[in-house]
Amino acid sequence: MKNYFIGIDLGGTNIKAAMVNITTGDISGTTSIPTHSREGYDSVIAQMGVLVERVITASKITKSKVGGIGVGVPGVIDMDKGRTLFLPNLPGQWRNVALAEKLSIHAKLPVRIINDARAMTLGEWQFGAGKGVDTVACYTLGTGIGGGLIINGRLHLGIGGAAGELGHVIVDLYGPKCGCGSNGCMEAFASGPAIAAMGMKAVAQGLTTRIAELCEGDLNRITPELVCQAAIEGDSIAKDIYEQAGRYIGVGVASIVTAINPRRVIFGGGVAAAGEIILDPIRRTVQSRVCLTDLKSIQVVLAELGNTAGLVGAAFWASQK
Ligand SMILES: [Zn+2]
Repeated sequence: MKNYFIGIDLGGTNIKAAMVNITTGDISGTTSIPTHSREGYDSVIAQMGVLVERVITASKITKSKVGGIGVGVPGVIDMDKGRTLFLPNLPGQWRNVALAEKLSIHAKLPVRIINDARAMTLGEWQFGAGKGVDTVACYTLGTGIGGGLIINGRLHLGIGGAAGELGHVIVDLYGPKCGCGSNGCMEAFASGPAIAAMGMKAVAQGLTTRIAELCEGDLNRITPELVCQAAIEGDSIAKDIYEQAGRYIGVGVASIVTAINPRRVIFGGGVAAAGEIILDPIRRTVQSRVCLTDLKSIQVVLAELGNTAGLVGAAFWASQK
């Protein structure tokens, strides 16, 4: 079997790609270009083809040694047919686009596609924070909350690869509307925008908080990172915001822990950069709300691969039969 596969991460802003040694997880020739998504999917896919050639050149791996391409896609896909069904963050939403087939014509290599959070899950499991255990739940805390499940040494796919949307586990029956169409999902309480919105609300209410000083009164400058900075500096309102987000995440995690007993629960993505500020309330909530599982065997940890996990995982996926 071939050892090198190209991983591509299709994002709303940038497309990243790299050559991945799928035995070691080492990457080389990492390249990135703006997505230019307004030009339409055919143009974006043609650009991906150009990016593939650049990665091959930059990595100095000859094309005949490359087994194929894996693309991590931000949204709902039909894995078997290699088609995108609904990419909410891209213009036109890429409904029923034959991404795998079109890219393989440009790149002259076999192509498989996978949801981007599932790709990150595979990457962390094979080469990062999930190494060595057979059951893992993985969360990406960012603009949305993505996820993935490894169960008994396999990525759990469900129907068409839709399983593992851990951010849409409902944590409050009567909670606010979520982007997915349901309401009360974890994502509606603890995504990056939800955390920023809590910070904006505190400032708008005139509460005495370091958040107001850091954003210099401009609500549009409030980000999860800014709220985190205020929490690090000891601001009690900012700490409360992360405490609340962490508790909601913890409730969702508690349900997953009870359902599948993952050996590790892994958190990556921009919001997870808050580290213990977000992990601590998650761990406390899991401790207090999981009653039927031996929690000594379960670790709640941060991801290790950073933003390369998706590239590595997509390439690894392409290498799987
Ligand atoms: Zn939802």
